Amino acid sequence: MTSEVFLTVVVPVYNEEESLPHLCSQLYPVLESLEKTFEVIFVDDGSTDGSFETLKSLSSKYLNFRAVRFRRNCRKASALSTGFKEANGELVVTMDADLQDDPQEIPRLIDALSVKYDVVSGWKKKRHDPLSKIIPSRLFNFITSLVSGIRLHDFNCGLKIYRRDVCEDVLPYLYGELYRFLPAIAHWEGYRVGEIPVQHHPRKYGYSKFGTKRLLNGFLDLMTITFIIRFMNTPMHIFGSLGLLSTVGGFAICSYIALIYFDYGNIQSRHPLLLLGILLIIVGIQFFSTGLLGDMLASSKERGGNSPRIAERI
Ligand code: UDP
Ligand code: MG
Repeated sequence: MTSEVFLTVVVPVYNEEESLPHLCSQLYPVLESLEKTFEVIFVDDGSTDGSFETLKSLSSKYLNFRAVRFRRNCRKASALSTGFKEANGELVVTMDADLQDDPQEIPRLIDALSVKYDVVSGWKKKRHDPLSKIIPSRLFNFITSLVSGIRLHDFNCGLKIYRRDVCEDVLPYLYGELYRFLPAIAHWEGYRVGEIPVQHHPRKYGYSKFGTKRLLNGFLDLMTITFIIRFMNTPMHIFGSLGLLSTVGGFAICSYIALIYFDYGNIQSRHPLLLLGILLIIVGIQFFSTGLLGDMLASSKERGGNSPRIAERI
């Protein structure tokens, strides 16, 4: 089905009242120059400054301007998710509201996408952020690249373009701070993901909403997302392997202690390894049980719950 709107721009907004008028005055000329149908959706993520009032006054000045507001701050992933659900465009661009992303890059993103991709992510090659942000971010990108199997320099650039299908498919993963893994998720879902260098500017107004906890959270989220995507339908593969490893280790240790017993005829109840051996066996069995439970859940989900089949009707 072809959508009537060619391009939707989704902008998450959290306390960005000063930037918004400048953003609109830079973004609209670029969109108009495309000579295609477009819409812009601002998602106010529970701002406590005058962002929504600013959006209201801007809405009368600009065409195809839409804005929604959350009652409270629900985080950037929820703002993007709502933007994706509201979007009518064939293509969806996301960009930050703080003017760090440059609207001039949108035509280049569209061109890159149309060549051979389903998602194109911006790469802040020359980044204008404090070092305390750049260094952890490099580490994060390096590890995410290794784990996800897709080589990108910059997973977390606010400026990205998606084909509509991708937006619909990634919705189940858009909560918490998992939006940082959108390119990896799209790649795992089988979409073609590319990257182009984009201009990045220092933040002029307001303040960054993400502190130093971001790195630790990023790694925890990486574990979550890897786990969800890789093992959602096959939990036994991971828990079973861990269980096997642990149980075999435990048995090996206990057998070693048993050998000592047979050799010396002296029960080694105080042998320091005995406790470890028993612990490993118990933990191993627990891993197996968790795997089984996980598989039962996955299987029940596949079968649409466990409602009994009707055998006969009269
Ligand atoms: N943002 C949001 N909800 C939040 C935090 C941020 O919608 O809880 C928006 C914010 O207004 C901006 C974008 O997400 O448009 C990126 O935020 P920020 O510039 O603070 O991130 P940074 O550039 O420091 O990584
Ligand atoms: Mg920013």
